[in-house]
Amino acid sequence: MITREEIAEVLRKYDTRKLAVGTLGSHSALNIFKGAKEEGLRTVCVCTPRNEIIYRKFPLADHIIRIENFQQLLDEEIQEQLRSLNTVLVPHGSFTAYLSTEEIMNELYVPIFGNRQLLHWEANRERQREWLLKAGLKLPRVFRTPKEIDGWVIAKLPGARGGKGYFLASSYESFKKKVEAMIKRGLITEEDVEKIHLQEYIVGVNAYPHYFHSILENEVEFLGVDRRYESDIDNLGRIPAREQLEADVTPSYTIVGNIPLTLRESLLATLLEMGDKVVETAKKLAFPGIIGPFCLETAITSNLEIYTFEISARIVAGTNVGIGTSPYVYLKYGEKMYMGRRIAREMGKAVKQNKIAEIVT
Ligand code: AMP
Ligand code: AMP
Repeated sequence: MITREEIAEVLRKYDTRKLAVGTLGSHSALNIFKGAKEEGLRTVCVCTPRNEIIYRKFPLADHIIRIENFQQLLDEEIQEQLRSLNTVLVPHGSFTAYLSTEEIMNELYVPIFGNRQLLHWEANRERQREWLLKAGLKLPRVFRTPKEIDGWVIAKLPGARGGKGYFLASSYESFKKKVEAMIKRGLITEEDVEKIHLQEYIVGVNAYPHYFHSILENEVEFLGVDRRYESDIDNLGRIPAREQLEADVTPSYTIVGNIPLTLRESLLATLLEMGDKVVETAKKLAFPGIIGPFCLETAITSNLEIYTFEISARIVAGTNVGIGTSPYVYLKYGEKMYMGRRIAREMGKAVKQNKIAEIVT
C-alpha cells in the first residue's frame, strides 16, 4: 500500500502556492471544481471524450487531461502530468466505480484528499458493517443465504452501481423468480447471483445526510441532506396497481438524480451524534480517520428510528443539491458554502498552515 510517507515525498516536490484540485470528470466534479475556483485554487479535470462537453459548457477546469477510459488515470504518464500540476485528487463515486480500491491504494501515486484505507473499508459490505456497528449505529439485518429470507429483503449487487439491478423479495421462492426475471431483462448476470447481498428492507423513507470531518478544526460538520430519485422505483406510484400487476413489474433502483431535503429538527440530534461516532470509530480503524466528506445512507421509519444501510467515505453526488448553498450550510456559514467549496477551503487552510501532508493520503 502507498504510505503517507511516500505521499509526503511527492508533496515535497510540489509548489503548494500553485496547488490544484483535480478529479475525474463525472459524479460531483462540477461541485468540486466550482468550490476550488471560489477558494482561489486551480482545477484539473481528467476526462473521457464522452464527458468532455460537460467541462466545456461549464468551464470550471483550468486543465483538461484527456483519457480514453477512467482506468487510464493509473497510467504513469497521466499521474506524472497530475503531479507536475501540483494536483491533489478528490475521490468521488467514479473512483470506486471504475477503479478497484486495491488500485487506488497501491498504484495511484498522487496525493488524495481522503483516506485510501477507508475507501477500501467502504468498498466491502462486511467491513462497512463492522465499522458502522462499532460506531453503535442501527443497521438492517443481513441474510447469509436466500433460504433464510423471512420477510422483505432488498437484494443488492456488489460495488457502487448506483442501485442498478437491485430488487425486492419476501421469500426464497420469490427471490428465485426475481433473479430469473432480472437476468432476462439483462439487469444482472448469472455470475452476479452468487455475490448478491441480502439486506432487511426497511419500510420508511430514505435520507442521506452529508458530513464533513475537518482534521484541521477537529470538528464534524453537518452540511445537508438529500434523497435520491431512482428509476424505476420512484415513479411506480404513477402506474395504477392493476396495471402494475398486469405488467408484472420488478422495480429497480438506478440512480438518476437527487432531491434536497430538510428534516424534522428533532431528528438532527441523532444524526449529529451518528456523524461524530462514525468519525471516532474511523480514527481507530485507519488513522487519521475520515478526511473531509462522508455520507450515511439511512432509512427512517414511522417510529423515527434511523437505520443506516451504507456509508460513503468520500464526497457523494447527493451534495450536488447544495451547490451554491443549502439550509444547513447556511446556518453555519451563511451564503455560498457547499461540499466542493468546503473541501477546497480545508486545502487552502492546510497550505497556509503548512499542514497539507496531514490532510491527504
Ligand atoms: P457515472 O460517472 O455517472 O457513471 O457515476 C459513477 C458512479 O457514481 C456510479 O457508480 C454511479 O452509480 C454513482 N453515482 C453517480 N451519480 C450519483 C448520484 N447522483 N447519487 C449516487 N450515486 C451516483
Ligand atoms: P445503495 O446502493 O445501498 O445505496 O441502495 C440504493 C437504494 O436502494 C437506496 O437509495 C434505497 O432506495 C434502497 N435501499 C437500499 N438499502 C435499503 C434498505 N435496507 N431498506 C430500504 N431501502 C433500501
